[in-house]
Amino acid sequence: MSEQTTYDAIVIGSGITGGWAAKELTEKGLETLVLEAGRPIVPEQDYVEHVPAWEMKFRGLGDRRRLQEDQPIQSTCYACDEWSSKFFVSDKENPYTTETGKPFRWIRGRQVGGRSIMWGRQSYRWSDLDFEANLRDGIAIDWPIRYADIAPWYDYVEDFAGITGEALGLSQLPDSKFLPPMQMNCGEKFVRDQVAKHFGGDRVLTIGRAAILTQEHRGRAACHYCGPCERGCITRSYFSSLNATLPAAGKTGRLTLRPYSVVHSVSFDAKTRRAKGVRVIDGQTKATIEFQAKLMFLCASTLESVRILLNSATPEFSSGLANSSGELGHNLMDHVKAGGAGALIPASEGTIEIGRRPNGVYMPRFRNLKSKQSEFLRGYGFQGGAHRAGWQRGIAEPGFGPDFKKSLSTPGPWHFTFYGFGECLPNHNNFVELDKNTVDVWGIPTLKIHCSWSENELALRKDMSVAAAEMLAAAGGTNIEPFATDEPPGFAIHEMGTARMGRDPKTSVLNAFNQTHDVKNLFISDGGAMASSSCVNPSLTYMALTARACDYAVQKMKKGEL
Ligand SMILES: Cc1cc2nc3c(=O)[nH]c(=O)nc-3n(C[C@H](O)[C@H](O)[C@H](O)COP(=O)(O)OP(=O)(O)OC[C@H]3O[C@@H](n4cnc5c(N)ncnc54)[C@H](O)[C@@H]3O)c2cc1C
Ligand code: SF4
Repeated sequence: MSEQTTYDAIVIGSGITGGWAAKELTEKGLETLVLEAGRPIVPEQDYVEHVPAWEMKFRGLGDRRRLQEDQPIQSTCYACDEWSSKFFVSDKENPYTTETGKPFRWIRGRQVGGRSIMWGRQSYRWSDLDFEANLRDGIAIDWPIRYADIAPWYDYVEDFAGITGEALGLSQLPDSKFLPPMQMNCGEKFVRDQVAKHFGGDRVLTIGRAAILTQEHRGRAACHYCGPCERGCITRSYFSSLNATLPAAGKTGRLTLRPYSVVHSVSFDAKTRRAKGVRVIDGQTKATIEFQAKLMFLCASTLESVRILLNSATPEFSSGLANSSGELGHNLMDHVKAGGAGALIPASEGTIEIGRRPNGVYMPRFRNLKSKQSEFLRGYGFQGGAHRAGWQRGIAEPGFGPDFKKSLSTPGPWHFTFYGFGECLPNHNNFVELDKNTVDVWGIPTLKIHCSWSENELALRKDMSVAAAEMLAAAGGTNIEPFATDEPPGFAIHEMGTARMGRDPKTSVLNAFNQTHDVKNLFISDGGAMASSSCVNPSLTYMALTARACDYAVQKMKKGEL
């Protein structure tokens, strides 16, 4: 039987945003084709969170020679280890280039589920402090939306995904619709109380807000604290498209999910000025196939969606489809991190941690909230946590004999670390373009990335280490070690901004509903849409924007306006 090639909607990518688009469009009655470049994932075979190190071929240390040859960039990510390196791309098959002296670390997943399998699940709402930031500072362009526009959509996606956290009532970090919070350990409570005592209400330490279930929710089981979530979750306790949105889309009977479908480009009908379909290269046979639909959602991730559009240039759009503004590929942002401090803290040594809580603690932004008080614009939040040193400390502090062994069987002192995540300013000069001299294994031109930190991001990073050390000192910490490491952009894995939203088609790619100004039936609902970067993890906002965009697109479609 020949394959069906015409659908109501096509979604490109099956990660966090593609999963949401698939769910929303199928639930609203559209026959939807999801094109996914990577392979299918079967949780019962592919999830490996319960496999102990001694059952792994390299005992958890990984095949370093293979990683160096095939995944030299991916393996710099903390989550790309012997268990989960299979969820990260082959750098050899998926090359990209950068400008000399300006490295960019691009961490990607290519399989059904995308990076929703390995993501850290930290989930925070943006606030008007973020949506008004560009206007207030006179930087880049103003967001066309405010918190009130997206708040009901945060409610909507949180209600489905399940977000654990503690309500604080802070204006810079609006509360989600929370499931019960996870508990802080004794070391974290100690730092929380000391910081509150010395810095008043300005600096609040709370448990991380995460897309993990602390109670049964919509047929998915509560987390059992096994720990290494980046390897999968057989109980579906954390949110991923594979665990939640794709099964919901499948239940409608209107989803066709096609793995091994590498989208080359989108085709454009110059007469109707609409996207006509997509050209796909079969990942296994390398045959070319075309699929048509009335509506297209690009959810291939911030940089891959732009790459598809740059590869879709037409006589009308010679610099890339939907790029009449010239902003496609520009304003690339990532969060600046690698600034913070760690220390030993004098918390009670009569307590130990039980289980492996898959979540840390969070300190919301406290710089430049009401007025500019620092040398830099915007701010940062801290992630982190406290732990008691385990037996592995014997590697750093070697010894021998029964007494040494005995001493390692008792937990060591409490250690606390603050890791900052800072806002990156949008900058037209941070951009990607096609590198026509380099193609991937499917023969598709790849990206050349031009991106570096500005003085503002470097100043934020420096301040993170100073503020973190100051708080640890106030808490009575010893052996305080501040750090501000020179990590390149891409390191936070929060790349965004290359198809920004705006009111004016001359300066933005998308309107307020993620619809391209130039091609009415073409939407981009991944991180490309972001006009600024906030300092909080962005994926929850991508989810809310995607659900909102689907609602708008289907309404327009029903009125015959697409
Ligand atoms: C280790 C790690 C930790 C993270 N922690 C957090 C966190 O705590 N909080 C947070 O908010 N974010 C976090 N992130 C980032 C988060 O994963 C991304 O923001 C999110 O997955 C982006 O969703 P997406 O749908 O745009 O892209 P992805 O989830 O990457 O999905 C894109 C999909 O598109 C497919 N695709 C790409 N190109 C094509 C093509 N040409 N044709 C067909 N399909 C294609 C890919 O194969 C992939 O499946 C983390 C990421 C990693 C790797
Ligand atoms: S710690 Fe919880 S969410 Fe993570 S894999 Fe284990 S059960 Fe799933």
